[in-house]
This record gives sequence, structure tokens and C-alpha cells, in this order.
Amino acid sequence: MANPKKKTTKSKKGMRQWKEKINSPNLVECPHCHHLILPHHVCPYCGYYEGRPVITVEKKKKKEKAA
Ligand SMILES: [Zn+2]
Repeated sequence: MANPKKKTTKSKKGMRQWKEKINSPNLVECPHCHHLILPHHVCPYCGYYEGRPVITVEKKKKKEKAA
């Protein structure tokens, strides 16, 4: 079994996770369908924004593999 030679310190772990944090998009929960969506955007799952429907969203299409 491969093992790390030294223990990762809290400092090193923090330095690594800080980068992961700033590169991840900020997500909020849609109040209508409770999916995670980008803030200040129309929900792509239900088409709601500020409690009212803004766009109509087509229902999920079955995935078909292109030959
Ligand atoms: Zn939604």
C-alpha cells in the first residue's frame, strides 16, 4: 500500500482547500423545485424566477446514444 510520507498539516490542507473553494461556483437552492442553481438566474429545472414562471422548460428527454 502506498502511504503519504508525512502528515498533511492543517495549514497545507487549508491552502489546498482555499483554491478549491474559490474555483467552485456559488450555488443556492431554488425555492420552487429545490434544485441547486446559480443565484440571480432563472431556474433551468422549473423555469421560475422570483416566485413566478419566466420560461417554459421542456420535460426531460430520454438519453439516446448517437451511433
Ligand atoms: Zn426551480
